[in-house]
Amino acid sequence: MAIYSNGDANSYYQHSKNFAINFPKLEHSLDVDVCIIGGGFTGVASAIELSERGYSVALLEAHTIGWGASGRNGGQLIRGIGHDLSKFHSQIGEQGVALIEQLGVESLQVVKDRINKYNIDCDFKLGYCDIANHPKHIKYLQQSYEQLQQSGYPHSLSLLDERQVQQQVIGSKTALAGLVDMGSGHLHPLNLCLGEAIAAQQNGAQIFEQSPVKSVRFGDTHQIRTAQGHVNAKTLIYGCNAYLHDLEPKLTGKVLPAGSYIIATEQLAPDLVEQLLPSDYAICDQRVDLDYFRLSADNRMLFGGLCHYSGRDPHSIEAVLRPKMTQVFPQLAQAKIEFQWGGMIGIGANRLPQIGRLQHNVYYAQGYAGHGINVTHMAAKLIAQHIHGESQRMQVFEQVKHMRFLGGKYLRSPLLALGMMYHKMFG
Ligand SMILES: Cc1cc2nc3c(=O)[nH]c(=O)nc-3n(C[C@H](O)[C@H](O)[C@H](O)COP(=O)(O)OP(=O)(O)OC[C@H]3O[C@@H](n4cnc5c(N)ncnc54)[C@H](O)[C@@H]3O)c2cc1C
Repeated sequence: MAIYSNGDANSYYQHSKNFAINFPKLEHSLDVDVCIIGGGFTGVASAIELSERGYSVALLEAHTIGWGASGRNGGQLIRGIGHDLSKFHSQIGEQGVALIEQLGVESLQVVKDRINKYNIDCDFKLGYCDIANHPKHIKYLQQSYEQLQQSGYPHSLSLLDERQVQQQVIGSKTALAGLVDMGSGHLHPLNLCLGEAIAAQQNGAQIFEQSPVKSVRFGDTHQIRTAQGHVNAKTLIYGCNAYLHDLEPKLTGKVLPAGSYIIATEQLAPDLVEQLLPSDYAICDQRVDLDYFRLSADNRMLFGGLCHYSGRDPHSIEAVLRPKMTQVFPQLAQAKIEFQWGGMIGIGANRLPQIGRLQHNVYYAQGYAGHGINVTHMAAKLIAQHIHGESQRMQVFEQVKHMRFLGGKYLRSPLLALGMMYHKMFG
């Protein structure tokens, strides 16, 4: 049963949210320029981008704003889009690859500008470190460092050896090297998403919660129906990612939903915090089934990992993640776990986010894998720029082919589980 990733999240973020807002349910009919389905970062950031450009916007969210992955994630704002872009040369050429690389850097600025412009209180901090905890990953960090330097990455980077990384970044014997990036960082994702929804509303966007879309009829004017109302819109955007289910099978079939999970400790004593993560950076290791962790603003360890491809949540997230956490930080053996939750990430076969159109006036963005805070915001900007005729940069993503997964909804996740097992054993 997927109670953690599909139910309401009993998360640290829900416990510490800054905004007590409720948006109404859609119970009438409404005519707008653009209707957005989904109230995560993809949807909310699109609502801001479009309302800033003067469009009338209605956003429909099935539950509450940030209910999906956007309000549950690790909060790590990390540079880059996709993995190993060189494999797309044959489809989009060198220029296309260079553009996506550039967008991967620009995406950080989009989020930072948003936080600054609307003064969103979301505990944003700069500083992120890739950790090598296996000798073969040290070389990978060196290569990443060199590539970033050569490409003119505009933020401070430093490559740290075992002694430096353990002294400056992480009090763990498991860390053998680190690559620190001061352009990336971490934040409270639910507060960012809620703050953005409020900003979109202030710009004139109409936002509806508890309003799951039941059906869509495409046309020059689309008709988007909920149980008690409907929206007529010239343009439609799908921003439902791994939670789309059967609403639009053409999109669902290209994304495999996978559960990812996080535990949050009790608040830790300042001297312990200083030992564990003295620079307060967000951290990821380099394994396929990676651990990702960081401190919250009130000094809890938020430790994430464990990707489940079976569609079933573990019975106890703590039972699975605590041993992983104490392997990295034996100092936390006695720490109480106060929150545990999960969410669904959407994974495409080639792991490049899927951004494009189903037809000329129907847009979508999905398939960010575990790396979506920056990319959702970049996707929203590209889509808004495309709708407004400001830039065609979105089209680089449309040129990439995305495989449809065989096996329908019941077999897709088991197939992914098999694929990931293969990747772990032979990748
Ligand atoms: C546990 C976890 C940790 C992660 N950690 C990180 C991280 O540290 N850094 C990072 O960059 N990324 C991370 N990610 C990935 C990132 O959170 C996602 O890529 C991103 O939030 C996707 O945003 P979204 O708006 O596209 O989808 P979501 O946030 O999932 O939102 C989709 C929304 O659509 C709504 N919806 C679905 N169907 C309908 C319908 N019929 N009608 C109306 N609404 C509908 C859902 O209710 C949901 O609210 C993590 C993800 C998870 C689950």
